[in-house]
Amino acid sequence: MSFQVFGIAVSQGVAIGRAVLVGAGRVDVAHYFVEPDRVAQEVARCEGACAQVAEELVALRDELPADAPPELAALLDVHLMMARDEAFVGGAREWITERRYNAEWALSAQMEALGRQFDEMEDDYLRERKVDLEQVVERILAVLSRQAKGGGESLPAALPRDFGGDDPLLLVASDIAPADLIGFRQGVFRGFITDVGGRTSHTAIVARSMNIPAVVGAREASRLIRQDDWVIIDGDAGIAIVDPSPVVLAEYRFRQRQAELEQERLSLWRHRPAVTLDGHPVEMLANIELPADAEAALAAGAEGVGLFRTEFLFMNRGGKLPTEDEQYLAYRAALENLQGRPLTIRTVDVGADKPLDRSHGSDHQLNPALGLRAIRWSLAEPVMFRQQLRAILRAAQHGPVRLLIPMLAHQSELMEVRSTLDRVRAQWSTHSDQPCPRVDLGIMVEVPAAALILDRVLPWVDFVSIGTNDLIQYTLAIDRADEAVAHLYDPWHPAVLQLIASVIRQARSAGKAVCVCGEMAGDLAFTALLLGLGLRSFSMNPPQITLVKQRILRADAAKLQEMAADVLAHEQPQERARQLGLA
Ligand code: PEP
Ligand code: MG
Repeated sequence: MSFQVFGIAVSQGVAIGRAVLVGAGRVDVAHYFVEPDRVAQEVARCEGACAQVAEELVALRDELPADAPPELAALLDVHLMMARDEAFVGGAREWITERRYNAEWALSAQMEALGRQFDEMEDDYLRERKVDLEQVVERILAVLSRQAKGGGESLPAALPRDFGGDDPLLLVASDIAPADLIGFRQGVFRGFITDVGGRTSHTAIVARSMNIPAVVGAREASRLIRQDDWVIIDGDAGIAIVDPSPVVLAEYRFRQRQAELEQERLSLWRHRPAVTLDGHPVEMLANIELPADAEAALAAGAEGVGLFRTEFLFMNRGGKLPTEDEQYLAYRAALENLQGRPLTIRTVDVGADKPLDRSHGSDHQLNPALGLRAIRWSLAEPVMFRQQLRAILRAAQHGPVRLLIPMLAHQSELMEVRSTLDRVRAQWSTHSDQPCPRVDLGIMVEVPAAALILDRVLPWVDFVSIGTNDLIQYTLAIDRADEAVAHLYDPWHPAVLQLIASVIRQARSAGKAVCVCGEMAGDLAFTALLLGLGLRSFSMNPPQITLVKQRILRADAAKLQEMAADVLAHEQPQERARQLGLA
């Protein structure tokens, strides 16, 4: 029976495919297809790991001290039975032989399928055995991971879908960490649905930058959708249609084709400079997460990178930070991809919904978004920070670099950054015979405090970049990743607009460059307003560039200036912007 699941539209477009359910905490499991001639080997890998866990459990049980509680032995017996159970091991084997899933994926898929059956059991005791199954799978995955690391067998990162005719796959999960989503880049999923998340959560942002349709905050999606269900993701409306009728399916296939044609049409604007009708040039920059994205950004028509979120180089490395050389090579690679165009490198911004490591999440912090995040963390880890600054300066020998500091709230933080930078510069000659390159220094304005003390900060920086995602979060006290308050996350709130207007005005009158790099820059509803407020530099996810550029090419900046003043003065800015045809 067809039904719909409603969520928040975060990444546009239509994706049609079969659901792959991935349980909570299992999104990081490698998902790839094995080559046909490796299927038998993969089955052996899977069965071998199950057998090894069974052996370990037998040994554990046999070694239990005499005074161990009897429940413990009984529990180990249950786990042992599961590790040998044909419904489990045989089921995983089938996912490998019939779908060519890798062993880890097959085990998680089978765990998911059996977990559903446990959920439906009437008996409380049996229902709770799901947790045991999860623990057994955890052990088996740990064996596979040890083998992959120790045995020198390298796991394919993610094989492309190489067998024609098979159904596209959509990921359905309770939540996906941004770093895990990055892992899907060349992966097998064409779209995803999550139970949690908000429009400017980092997972949503990464989805937009990857241009894959997504719906987040769909609450019960991972409970209602079943493995293998046919699903349409309508990323424009924020809806997932499960088991659609043939008519609905045909309609969406039509929409998919139309969107492809529109993309082709828009690509004609790619390399045309963005200049308003009355002659104001506008800088079109891209936001990137990895060095390779810089190439895609140029292909999308970007004139440079306005935000390189370097934290993605730091995440999910088992607590090991990237070395200076690793960072230097990554920044240099991004610069080389940009072929002489500017690269704005933001120092690491981990914390809140971007934990350094999924196993070291921010759960222990009472209020992670208000905790040791971004520049606060960098200043608390001076060795790490100096290393990153040195890597950035070394990379700056290969192209124009702008250095951007996230989440500044205190002037003293800026002074500390400057003195750390001076120290790194002073030590430069002990590392290199070349002169230390100059880099422009800028701050993110994403905490209201930074906007309110901007006059004191501006003399010490070369540029500012407005991070509207956090600025809205911190101005309105709304967690940007929490779907429960997503309806209150309002970029049109007069307080937010006043802060943005004031930052643009102050920066311009001080002769300092000002950019918006939050999601507002790529939101067509705000293009005219931001132009009217005097913004001449936009940084956004690459797929948005041609769309926003189209608006700019049709805009008259002088007229928009008057309209923007009108919108800001109005009690209901969004309504006024609509009346004026701006949004
Ligand atoms: C922002 O807050 O607007 C921003 C661009 O930074 P991030 O989304 O990475 O927090
Ligand atoms: Mg931010």
